[in-house]
Amino acid sequence: MVNCQLFCTFAPQMSELETYRIDLKGQKDEVVNLEYDLNDGFFAALDGAQLEHGALHVSVSIRKTAGLFELRFHTEGEVTVSCDLCLDDMQQPISADNSLLVKLGAETNTEDDELITVSENDGVLDISWFIYEFVMLAIPIKHVHAPGKCNHVMTEKLEELSAARSSDEAKVVDPRWSALEKLIKD
Ligand SMILES: [Zn+2]
Repeated sequence: MVNCQLFCTFAPQMSELETYRIDLKGQKDEVVNLEYDLNDGFFAALDGAQLEHGALHVSVSIRKTAGLFELRFHTEGEVTVSCDLCLDDMQQPISADNSLLVKLGAETNTEDDELITVSENDGVLDISWFIYEFVMLAIPIKHVHAPGKCNHVMTEKLEELSAARSSDEAKVVDPRWSALEKLIKD
């Protein structure tokens, strides 16, 4: 039995990403299914993540075949991103299907998107950053609030700013033209 007084106090932070480390070498069954619920803690625990808030469910299926592991991911939920139009936070729905092909080899190499190599000695693949990248890829390039849901104070300010900028630009006249104009007048 685990002494919770000692152990469990530290466990949550330490093991935040621990469950995302998959022991491929130790996989006995042909197919293993894993389920994850991602929340703000997941993004906080990831080093260098641009996203901070989200609630997503990820189903992972790992199929072991001759010398290869085929990982399939289904990700569903939403993340908080800033709206392109008004810059306020907005909820972006996410639904993504991705897969990874993994083999055991001499040393770990995750550079090749087509085929990931995991060191045979270790035999463990950390899928946390892959899941994060799948979420990032599922965010559309242009993401805006539903019509009428933008922060109007902000969009009006931004419109004023861009109007002011374009009228400033109109006032700038090519110096060669003014020189020419002067020449004609003289
Ligand atoms: Zn907006």
